[in-house]
Amino acid sequence: MFFLSLHKRIVKKMGINLTNYHCHSIFCDGRTDMKTMVRFAIAKGFSSFGFSSHAPLPFQTTWTMDKGDVADYFTEFKRLKDIYKDRIALYIGLEIDYLDHRQNPSMKYFRDMHLDFRIGSVHLLSDLDGNFVDIDCSVERFREILFNHFNNHIDFMIRLYINNLMSMIELGGFDILGHCDKMFYNVDAVCPGKSSEGWVQRLMNHYFLKIAEKGYLVEINTKKYHELGTFFPREKYFPMLLELGIPVVVNSDAHYPDLINDGRFEALAALKKNGYETVRQLQDGVWRDVMIE
Ligand SMILES: [Zn+2]
Ligand SMILES: [Zn+2]
Repeated sequence: MFFLSLHKRIVKKMGINLTNYHCHSIFCDGRTDMKTMVRFAIAKGFSSFGFSSHAPLPFQTTWTMDKGDVADYFTEFKRLKDIYKDRIALYIGLEIDYLDHRQNPSMKYFRDMHLDFRIGSVHLLSDLDGNFVDIDCSVERFREILFNHFNNHIDFMIRLYINNLMSMIELGGFDILGHCDKMFYNVDAVCPGKSSEGWVQRLMNHYFLKIAEKGYLVEINTKKYHELGTFFPREKYFPMLLELGIPVVVNSDAHYPDLINDGRFEALAALKKNGYETVRQLQDGVWRDVMIE
């Protein structure tokens, strides 16, 4: 009995910051079904867990959900939420792309959905011919895109990326800013030191100020932490986020079930080191500040 209650206390303690609201399944480009993701989350002691399939786009891609599958996405979520209601709090969301003023998280189509949360992200930029290209890619692919689609104008790409993020912030329709500076990893890989230039820093300051003014949550995206050694946003921005009073949520952006907890403890430790005492978590459907353990 003593060991049982001790075990319960340990599990409860483990679950305090064991949450994730950025996860993909076979409804988009995740590598397994929603049920497997939930079972892994329970096995790891997660207290709450949210799905965020890539929202449908007006054209076919290999990584977004088809519009025709949206109803099934909700049905499967409701089924799992009911089955596992005593073991984990499940939430449904979407990761919605900003493309331009017509296609973005503020669209009525997304606002009318009964979602628990929404992530706003920029993965695609319109190139010099007006075609959308995916800049959330490897360094090698990014170098090709820079050369073939943007005539090597890296400054133009940076301004376009930040402009799109700023427009998304202005238009709204989402709660969490997804991997909010991710393109800069590729930028610095092809053009070392670029993101530290004064004009980029001024853009970033303005960008984070706008995020704070509008009251969005920023995710600390841990997906590439073990592969690339960085969070998104990069840790150098944590003090600025704290100073601006921006609440943060730690998300693994998992596409594989065994990676749902990847980089979480490192992110929580980094937040604490930089002065953060709390992270945001969903409790009974409401975002609350929870102490970092
Ligand atoms: Zn994303
Ligand atoms: Zn994602």
